[in-house]
Order: sequence, then C-alpha cells, then structure tokens
Amino acid sequence: MPELPDVEGFRRVAAEAARQRVRDVEVFDPQVVRGLVEQVRGRYLGEARRHGKWLVLPTSSRDGDDPPWLLVHFGMTGMLLRCPPGEDVHAHDRVVLHLTRDDLRYRDMRKLKGMRVVRRSEVDGFLDELGPDAAAVPLPDFRACVGRGRRALKSALMDQSTVAGLGNLCVDEILWRARLDPKTPTTELDGDRWRSLHRTMRSVLRQAERAGRVPDRPSWLTGHRDDPGERCPRCSGTLRRAKVAGRTTVWCPACQRG
Ligand SMILES: [Zn+2]
Repeated sequence: MPELPDVEGFRRVAAEAARQRVRDVEVFDPQVVRGLVEQVRGRYLGEARRHGKWLVLPTSSRDGDDPPWLLVHFGMTGMLLRCPPGEDVHAHDRVVLHLTRDDLRYRDMRKLKGMRVVRRSEVDGFLDELGPDAAAVPLPDFRACVGRGRRALKSALMDQSTVAGLGNLCVDEILWRARLDPKTPTTELDGDRWRSLHRTMRSVLRQAERAGRVPDRPSWLTGHRDDPGERCPRCSGTLRRAKVAGRTTVWCPACQRG
C-alpha cells in the first residue's frame, strides 16, 4: 500500500516528466477522477511535489488563468508510471497523459477516486486539511500535533490530519525502532521519548525514500512481519499481531515496552 516513501518514488517519476506538454489525455475510467482532467490538455507540467501521501502535479497557466492542477492519491494499489508512447495499455490504467516525449500513466487496480482536478488557488486550502508532512515536520510541531489529546501512538501517527504520510508499515517500523508499544498513550511520552520517536521517524523515512518503499530487509521489522514464525530481528522474541487503530499491527512485546 503506497505510503510516503512510495509516493516520493512516484514524485521522482513525475519530476522526470516536468516541462513536457500534455498533448492529449485519455481517461479509461472516469470514476477515478473528480473533475475534468481533460482541462490539462495543451498545458505544460511543472515540478511535482508531495505532501504526505498526495502528489501535486502543477500545470502551466494560460493567458494568466488559474490553471487546473492534479492532486493524485494512490489509495491501496495505485502507481504512477512513465512509459514510452505507444506502449500497450494495461487493464488497470485509469488515466494516461500523453506528453511531448513520454506517457504518464495512473494505474490502479481498485477504483478509489484517487485523482482530483483542483484550481491552483485551491490547492493550499485542500492540503491544509492534512497535518504537516512527516518527512519535513520539525520536532516541536510534531510533538504538538501528535501529542494533542490522549490516543494510542499508533492511532495518532496513522491519522493523516495529525501528521501526513505514514501508513501501517511505516508506523509499525518506526515504533519498533523507537521501542515504543503501539498502544502507549501519547500523553505518557516524556521529552526524551518524543525526541527519539521524531529522530527514528526521520531516519526510517529517509532510508525508505531511497528504496521507494518500506524495505523488507532482514534487519527491519517489515522484513519479518509476514514470516510464519514471526521472530523479532532484534531480540528473537515472538512478535505479536493484533488490531490496533483498526489495522493489523505487528510489534515485539519484549522490546517495545514504552
Ligand atoms: Zn524484540
């Protein structure tokens, strides 16, 4: 499921298509789009940016108008691909932007209305409904957002209006590294633990961004969460699996006591 590191990978894909002109737009499935994506026809793509799990694709203004920008969410199964023109259409390609040199394809097995067309002037208002981006938020803001109210850490970190970009794999990995139990109430963390949690989040995200996903390396919890034996790669204790915040959560009760 695409989380911040995956979407950062899609941002790099889109960045390679910047400054190309949209020659044509093909919508194979109008259900996935809110708004008229055809409005971007004839415009140039700008530098893509990311906020949390959202990718922002700017387009050029024409005659000083308020241009239609694309906001793309990847839901559970979405992806963005850059393909040579003329390549066969995949069964799950929902929208294809035919650019000057490449095709940019939004592919999603499920249909979750992942693409929105929003005027440039409306983009900030849309993104303001999200918390700060997890990869960029400084410690004081992180603590203020996540520490608001008494909630389980897992719930608070998964809430996109609290901090944007983290999903199930990221949060489990971060909490495992920071040795914090996912059910710990946010009100029980002291200053040292907030610092450690924030530092760990940044480190996990940096490494995962480089990989373009949360990597299932042997030294990571993610590398073991689907193992039949499910042993902790740090202490070899038995990992626990249960629903926390409505999501299947994996943690090590021996290491994660905080
Ligand atoms: Zn352990």
